[in-house]
Amino acid sequence: MAERSPPRPPSADELALEYPLGDALPAPGQVIELRPGVRWLRMGLPFALDHINLWLLADEMDGRRGWTVVDCGIDNPATRANWEQVFASALDGLPVLRVVVTHMHPDHIGLAHWLCARFGTPEHECRLWISATDWHVARLAVQAGQGQGGSDAADFFASHGLVDAASLDKVRARRGYYASLVPAVPTRYARLHEGLVLHIDGRPWRCIAGYGHAPEHIALYREDDALLISGDMVLPRISTNVSVYEAEPEADPLPMFLDSIERLRALPEGTLVLPSHGRPFRGLHTRIGQLQRHHDARLADVLAACRAAPCSAAEMLPVLFGRALDLHQTTFAMGEAVAHLHALWRRGQLRRGRGADGVWRFGAA
Ligand SMILES: [Zn+2]
Repeated sequence: MAERSPPRPPSADELALEYPLGDALPAPGQVIELRPGVRWLRMGLPFALDHINLWLLADEMDGRRGWTVVDCGIDNPATRANWEQVFASALDGLPVLRVVVTHMHPDHIGLAHWLCARFGTPEHECRLWISATDWHVARLAVQAGQGQGGSDAADFFASHGLVDAASLDKVRARRGYYASLVPAVPTRYARLHEGLVLHIDGRPWRCIAGYGHAPEHIALYREDDALLISGDMVLPRISTNVSVYEAEPEADPLPMFLDSIERLRALPEGTLVLPSHGRPFRGLHTRIGQLQRHHDARLADVLAACRAAPCSAAEMLPVLFGRALDLHQTTFAMGEAVAHLHALWRRGQLRRGRGADGVWRFGAA
């Protein structure tokens, strides 16, 4: 969640991609059929990034016809109402058979508990399918005090130079933020992992694990007609959030992310990519190259700034983002700034030191 989405005209990078559906978007509660039995729907989000794409895949399990849902939306009344419209008009009267979740961020897993409970029967449990890592982290995060808030998060941001007392107070007060969007996570699940093949309506979809955005993100690839449900790992318009969080303060997620998207180059360039945010597109290799150049350029900017004078992550925000950010964006931006600093620190191009003020600064190695 929380990739950045400033309003702006299409960039040269976006124009280099092909959008086979043009400007078509599913209306609330409606679907667009992309292939027979592959339907696209959208749910709103109350963030700068204002929507998420979800997918419905026609399926059959234990002799019952129905739907595999991929990702869920956050749990709020508007999203539940939107789903009700989908149940009434877009499922051909058939049930949801299982809920596949690409990763544990709230916009993807929020309503999994509700969908599983609603469509589970004594004879047929409607199961959540997710990576083991993300299921466990989600189960921990629903407990109040974890996930983008609380005193640990505030201390972490302060140690990286976010000293504005009002912002830190808001972060500290945001205990239970994750649970406000994801009130529950199913207590049982089915495990997705790298290389696992899901047979959805008899057609194989291969799980592709990706790192650096979520603990263990799973994308799904159908080889026979080159269809990739990319989740948040490859997005057409915005760059995926790659952040360091307080629970793993020395993390180095950026190389993990870049390695993960590099591995997706093994898929054909003509793959139709179904991203969680933005429009379905073709041009996978082009987009991977754009993202690699984007991060290379940001790393170069950060390196140059830190070589001029040791910098904290907070001091990198104008270098990396160059615009005003709200609190929600600031916390993600801080995580991203630390990720870029750590990539340079871990590869030996910067060294870090902690000042008497308790703030980490990164300078020339
Ligand atoms: Zn995400």
